[in-house]
Formats: sequence, structure tokens, C-alpha cells
Amino acid sequence: MLKGIATSGGIAIGKVFKYETPVIDIKEAKGDTTAELKVLEDALAKTNADIEKVKERAAANLSEEELAIFDAHLMMVNDPEYTGQMKNMINDGYKADWACKVISDQMIAMFESLEDAYFKERAADIRDVSFRLTCNILGVQIPDLTAIDEEVVIVANELTPSDTAQLNKKLCLGFCTEIGGRTSHSAIMAVSLGIPAVVGTTGILANAKHGDMIIVDSIDGDVVINPTKEEIEKYSAKNAKYLEEKEALKVLVNEESQSKDGHKIDIAGNIGTPKDVENVIKNGAEGVGLYRTEFLYMDSKGGFPTEDEQYEAYKVVLEDMKGKRVVVRTLDIGGDKKLDYFTFEEEMNPFLGYRAIRLCLDRKDIFRTQIRALLRASIYGKLAIMFPMIATVNEFLDAKALVLEEKENLIKEGQKVSDEIEIGMMVEIPAAAVLADEFAKYADFFSIGTNDLIQYSMAADRMSEKVAYLYQPLNPSILRLVKMTIDGAHSQGKWCGMCGEMAGDPLAAPVLLGLGLDEFSMSASSVLRTRKMIKELNYSDMKVMAEKAMKCHTCEEVTEMVKEVLK
Ligand code: PEP
Ligand code: MG
Repeated sequence: MLKGIATSGGIAIGKVFKYETPVIDIKEAKGDTTAELKVLEDALAKTNADIEKVKERAAANLSEEELAIFDAHLMMVNDPEYTGQMKNMINDGYKADWACKVISDQMIAMFESLEDAYFKERAADIRDVSFRLTCNILGVQIPDLTAIDEEVVIVANELTPSDTAQLNKKLCLGFCTEIGGRTSHSAIMAVSLGIPAVVGTTGILANAKHGDMIIVDSIDGDVVINPTKEEIEKYSAKNAKYLEEKEALKVLVNEESQSKDGHKIDIAGNIGTPKDVENVIKNGAEGVGLYRTEFLYMDSKGGFPTEDEQYEAYKVVLEDMKGKRVVVRTLDIGGDKKLDYFTFEEEMNPFLGYRAIRLCLDRKDIFRTQIRALLRASIYGKLAIMFPMIATVNEFLDAKALVLEEKENLIKEGQKVSDEIEIGMMVEIPAAAVLADEFAKYADFFSIGTNDLIQYSMAADRMSEKVAYLYQPLNPSILRLVKMTIDGAHSQGKWCGMCGEMAGDPLAAPVLLGLGLDEFSMSASSVLRTRKMIKELNYSDMKVMAEKAMKCHTCEEVTEMVKEVLK
């Protein structure tokens, strides 16, 4: 049995679909001209057919404009200039794989050297097509998530947010990744989709083969490859119990989130797309506490989503939430979240680099489009806008000023904008937590992003399973930062929420209640479990416990104390 990090609860049992990009190393080599020309012709025909197939499957989900990318790829495979140069090299005695590599590399370098952003991006298309063609020349299988047509458990090194976006949720029973921690984006996506997933499972790629049976236990982090009949029975029974408990929570859907002694908090849901609202409502959340809008940008094909496209998405969410608060986070791109159509310059530490609000304040054209879309949508519900990765008061003031400027512009243009929009910020950089009382003079609210706050406080990459032990939400240092942030907000009469994974952590909730957190925002699937717990606790007792927790020395001490109280 292998051990990884449990994320979303539940257990998946099924057949392994191994999602691994083949590593290809091509060396210069000569071969038989006639045979190699045939290899190339066959590979070109197969590549053509493969792209047609992918296009056909994607047609159901993509617009005409988005599908055009496949036509561009087809044109490239059939481009006589591109294929003709390869044939020339083969006629000079080279093997087909080497000819494909040399000619493709030349074309990529040529496009990348051009100033025009459009042509620069075409280099990525050639890379895509030539990779597919090379694999077909060598007879190497390319795993394709969109080609899955039966129920499977995906095994991968890591699933990026755009991989997860391609998944057919009905056929993906669960997944297991080699790398990643509790707050890596693949883990967060799994939680929001309600798919059992275990991440950071060292050894899974070496041990699991395509087609093996596998058990992925996302309650305790167990992964069993080719289980025995007894093991399947044991884990099936465990899953049935888990599902039964989940079902029993449904009676709490319409209840308030209030402690036994009457202290009321809000439990909100985190969403990545407008479709996720359905689950938020189904689980009786009291609002949306975090709308990660970057998924709108990651799903957009061929360029940034337009103002109108964004307006439609925000409007739907606000309308569907029927007057309950929706906190929309402005674009948080960079770090591990990349866009197909935007080139980030190489940085040594992308998580500490050009991302989120830093990028938006530098590229105001991109930022303004999003803000205008949000302001226009604001009349359809209760909108709160929040900026990610704020480190300094000036960053917050600049971002807020841009919102107010666009509001004025829209009104001048004759558009309606709500007068009740709250403008707040995420507290996910320790500098902001420490200075929270000053920020609170300008921000309407805070939402603590513990995924990043813990990563930056502990100097421990949230993507790395090697340092995953430093993800310690209950470390007294983190609790003190959280307390500073909450107190900072309250000192100016503002509210403070939390939208990092810590908010939905059953061991953290009692402490957060005691620290005075006003809003807990989490994956929709955790809402009812948290509400049940809050209803069974006394706020006054939790206040005493939280004070004690902040005076502890270690995360283990706090954990023990909470477990004792929960007994
Ligand atoms: C966080 O950092 O806690 C957060 C909610 O943002 P993200 O996970 O998207 O970085
Ligand atoms: Mg963050």
C-alpha cells in the first residue's frame, strides 16, 4: 500500500488511466530513405486523423472560434513547406524523427524571434503539432484526457488546473498524483468537484500500470494497487459509511450556522466556474466566499476573455445566488496558473514573482476589462470584489482607485453600477497580516488565503510533497497571524473571512470560531459538515481554547488540544 495526502473524502475504486507525457530524446541518425519516407507519410496521416478526432470530441464544449485552433494545427500538418523540408532531409539520408525535430525546431525558433505576440504564440502550436507528429513517427502513445470513454481513476505526476478542466467528471472516479500537497490546485479542484483524490503519493508512477485496478482512499490517504477481493470489500464498506454520513447532513441545508450559545457565523462556498454555484446552493452555503476567476481565463481559447464574456459569467453567478454575497477575486494568474495565450517571462521563483495583483497593476488594460465586467454585473446581486496577493497598502489603494475610476467611466457612459459593492482584499502575504489594522482603514473586508499565507510564512512550497509537513494550519505562528488579521479588521468595524483550505479543515474550525472569524469559505462539499460542527460547539469555550492554542509551542500540541475538546 502507498500513502499520500488525502484531500476530498470518499473512496474511488476502478481501473488506472495513466496520464503521463512521454519523454522523448531524439539523436541525429541516418536511415533507409524509402522506409523513412513511408514512416513520415504514415505519421502525417495519423496525426491528421488524431487532430480531427480531438476536434470532433471538443466540438460539444467549444465555440467555433475556439475550434479554429484545431484547423490551424491541421493546416500545419498539411503545410507543404513544413513537410517538404522534412522530406528533403530524409532524401539526404536522415531518419524521419531527426528530420521532424530539426525542421520543427527551426520553425519554432523563427516564430519565437518575431516581435508580434500573435506569431510568438504560434510557436506553441508548432510545438504541439510536432510533438504529436514525433510520437506518431516513433509509435509512442500520447495519453489524452478527453479520449477517456469509460470509468477510470487517473494516475499522473500532477494534474494542472487546465488538465482538470478537461476532465469528464462523470467518467473520472478519482485521481492520484505523485506530487502536490494539500493546497496544490489539483487537490483544491478535486475537493470542489467532490472527486476522491490522493496527492503527493510518492512511488505511484513507478508502481501503477495503465489498466491496473486501484483503490484511492481520500479519507486516510491510502492507495492500493491491484487490491485483493477482501481489500475491495473493506474499502467499499468504508465508502458506503462515508456516503451515508454525508447524506445524513442534508437535514442542515436550510439551517443557520450558529454555535450552541448563539454566535452566528457565515459559511460560504468556493467556486471556480459559474457551474459550481449549483453545488453551493445545494449545500445551503450562505454565499460565495471566493470565486477564483482565473479559471475563466484559463478556459478561454485564443486570448483573454472579453468584457462581455466576463460580464455574462459574473451576472449568472450573482443572479443564481439571489442576493447572497458573492466575493469575486480578481485575476490571480501566475505561479502554477498559466495561460496558453500569454507568455510569462522565466523567473527563478514564479510563486514569489510577477503574478496576481502585481501583474494586474502592471497590465491595467487586462485589469480594467475585468473590473468593468464586474461593475456592470454588480446590479444583479450582492457583489464584493477582492484583490489577491496584496502586500502593501499602496497596492490596495491603486487597485481600489482603478475600480472607482471605472465606476465613474461606466456611469458617464450611461451604464448602471450598484452603490453597494464591497471592496476588500485577500490576506495571504504575512506582511499584510501583520499590518492588518492599517489595511482595514481602507478595505471593506479581508479574506485570509491560508494556502498561500502558510506557504509564505513557513517558506514551504505548497506544490512540494517533500516539505508538505510544513503545511501546519494549527501552528501557533499561523494562528497568531490569523488572529492579527481578524483583530485588525474588527478594530475598524470590518468583517474577516477565510477562503483557504484551512477554513474547511475540521480540526481548525473550532479554533477559528474561537479566534472570532466571521466567514468561513470552503468547497461546497465541506459546508454541511462544518455547520454541524459549529452547531455543536460553544463559542465561549472556543474563545478560551483559541487563546490557549496561541500560547502553545507546536502544531502537535494544538492538534492534541483540539482533538481532546472534540471528544
Ligand atoms: C489561498 O491562497 O489560500 C487561496 C484561497 O488562493 P489560491 O489557493 O487560489 O492561491
Ligand atoms: Mg492564494
